[in-house]
Amino acid sequence: QAKAAGRNTLRFFDPQMQAAVLARAALDADMRQAVQNQELLLHYQPVVDAAGGVRGYEALLRWNHPRRGVLAPGSFIGLAEQSGLILPIGQWVLRAACHQLVTWSRGLDTQGLSLAVNVSARQFRQRDFVDQVLAVIDETGVNPQRLRLELTESLLISEVEDAIRKMAELRARGVRFSLDDFGTGYSSLNYLKRLPLDALKIDRSFVSDVLTDPNDAVIVRTILALAQSMGLQTVAEGVETEGQRDFLRDNGCTLFQGYLFGRPGLLGH
Ligand code: C2E
Ligand code: MG
Ligand code: MG
Ligand code: MG
Repeated sequence: QAKAAGRNTLRFFDPQMQAAVLARAALDADMRQAVQNQELLLHYQPVVDAAGGVRGYEALLRWNHPRRGVLAPGSFIGLAEQSGLILPIGQWVLRAACHQLVTWSRGLDTQGLSLAVNVSARQFRQRDFVDQVLAVIDETGVNPQRLRLELTESLLISEVEDAIRKMAELRARGVRFSLDDFGTGYSSLNYLKRLPLDALKIDRSFVSDVLTDPNDAVIVRTILALAQSMGLQTVAEGVETEGQRDFLRDNGCTLFQGYLFGRPGLLGH
């Protein structure tokens, strides 16, 4: 206790640290306005199959900050998790994504597309998470089979039974689940087997060096073989070169995402 207090006290005598604390407080205050001021927006990045056809998109959050311009989630999601603002923000993301899906469902060339939405740990752990998602589905009239929720390993491992129950309830309504950033967390095959997942997303950190680092090549092959044996789809993240795409495809990867196929952006659809 005394030690912690001492650390906090010291903090304010360090000008650099004090500046950082103030900057965070300012960002936090700005974020409180962001939803109601309609400063949030979604960028969409295509997910393509081995033939290069677009099968869907991933919705990636952006914040059009009044003074700082468009911010990527890396600069504010962590703070939003801490403050709890991720809850209204996550709700907004889900609703905006479902509205986009409904718009697509009216177009001949877009009605088959899926849309992946990232779900934060704090959001998923809410007691009424399932009801919140179902409410947005009902309110927007979206086809739940087009919706994919992306979860991370660390989020799932802490309360496995609770996670399985929530996933199963939503899956019964047609919602699909992907495990994001796969390979970076604690991958216990034992729990992986029990989760009602549809896809594994291979983390970009393995994809980026897959042609140059033999360890990454082995990891990627192992993930692809594992997914195949479990009947799961595989999505490779961060594919930037044709060489990476070819390696992934030749080893059984089914879906691809990365700058090679398209950067996250606003949609023409
Ligand atoms: P993620 O879900 O793993 O998303 C993939 C990230 O990789 C995105 O960064 C995307 O822009 C980037 N990326 C895609 N292809 C490439 C590539 O070829 N090369 C490189 N260098 N990067 C690529 P972004 O948009 O900055 O998002 C970062 C993370 O923020 C996401 O990682 C996700 O964890 C989180 N995030 C994004 N949107 C949301 C959201 O709506 N809610 C929550 N809770 N988290 C979100
Ligand atoms: Mg994701
Ligand atoms: Mg990812
Ligand atoms: Mg990632």
